[in-house]
Amino acid sequence: VFFCPSCRRRFSTSQPRWRCDCHSYLLGEFNASLSHAPSGEDQRSIWRFRESFGLSGGARPVTLGEGSTPLVTRRIAGREVLCKLDYLCPTGSYKDRGSSVMITKLKEWGIGEIVDDSSGNAGASVAAYAAAAGIRCRIFVPTSTSAGKAAQIAMYGADLVRVPGTREDTERAALQAASDTFYASHNWSPHFLVGMKTVAYEIVEQLDGKAPDWVVTPVGGGSLLLGLYDGFRDMLRAGWITDVPRIAAVQSTRCAPVYEAWRKNLCDVPAVAKGETAAEGIAIAAPVRGRSILEAIRGSKGVVYTVEEDAIWQMTRSLAEQSLYVEPTAAAAPAAISSMVADGLLQADERVAIVLTGIGLKATDKIVEHFFFEGRRGNNAPPR
Ligand SMILES: [Zn+2]
Repeated sequence: VFFCPSCRRRFSTSQPRWRCDCHSYLLGEFNASLSHAPSGEDQRSIWRFRESFGLSGGARPVTLGEGSTPLVTRRIAGREVLCKLDYLCPTGSYKDRGSSVMITKLKEWGIGEIVDDSSGNAGASVAAYAAAAGIRCRIFVPTSTSAGKAAQIAMYGADLVRVPGTREDTERAALQAASDTFYASHNWSPHFLVGMKTVAYEIVEQLDGKAPDWVVTPVGGGSLLLGLYDGFRDMLRAGWITDVPRIAAVQSTRCAPVYEAWRKNLCDVPAVAKGETAAEGIAIAAPVRGRSILEAIRGSKGVVYTVEEDAIWQMTRSLAEQSLYVEPTAAAAPAAISSMVADGLLQADERVAIVLTGIGLKATDKIVEHFFFEGRRGNNAPPR
């Protein structure tokens, strides 16, 4: 069933629905189980874990082979850090895990047309999976979205609608359009979150059944953070692991509503004013699932950090020099590790994992402008 964390109402999942009548987001209670048994489906995708998705047996997966991404070790801030290369998913971002499950459910519901709003990666992912499912799709993006992401969305055949103003203006425009179609929002869909849990399952698989001690993750709308937390808790309940890793959530100093709420010990996340940041994927001034995000961080005995623009760009380059070419949003989380080390938070023997969320190719225009536009910024080296 769907469950409303605000007014406690429950709804059947057999009918299409993306939010509660009270306008809150919904959580999923899918009576799911986790098992190691292979499903017989394509083994190189998240559908190995389909028992944990709580979908009906008849649902035919809409899959492009998402998930099953490498876990490699790199040196960050003087430590060995486990890097989950989720930018290698089919559309170049981790969102494909969520889109695959969400679009599978929409297809089962018989939905023929959807809208979503996105800063870019989720839009591209939803557009690709909608194309695979034969669902018509309209994606609203802010005009500030990277050209690479906007092009990708349009190339998948979605109607791309550019909205001037903030990310929040974009969301409002999509909601308005959703009144006569279905709002397939990654920020609202409980099924999207279910797909995200597979990141946690895979990390533990790749560490021979052990959870890392820390997971450092960027947080904007919270789908990755909540997916990780739910996934690790599934495994705790199933007896696979003995502890849920501590979560370090990272935001840009230019848009840090979760940090502000956590620092002030609030239980919900009020909207903040935000500035422009290279980490466009996490520039969410008012996350829909703010309450759940704070619960997950506190439930894991976690922390929240903010990082400056310079640190994000430096980490983008540093990762690329270690052969990991990611977009700036993905560099935000590892950019916080040096502060965690300085604060004495990480013990010498503790294992730290990060999820690298989006590929650098998506942000080519912004990377070119930052590193290679001669004269615009004095401090940056010209192309080497
Ligand atoms: Zn409600």
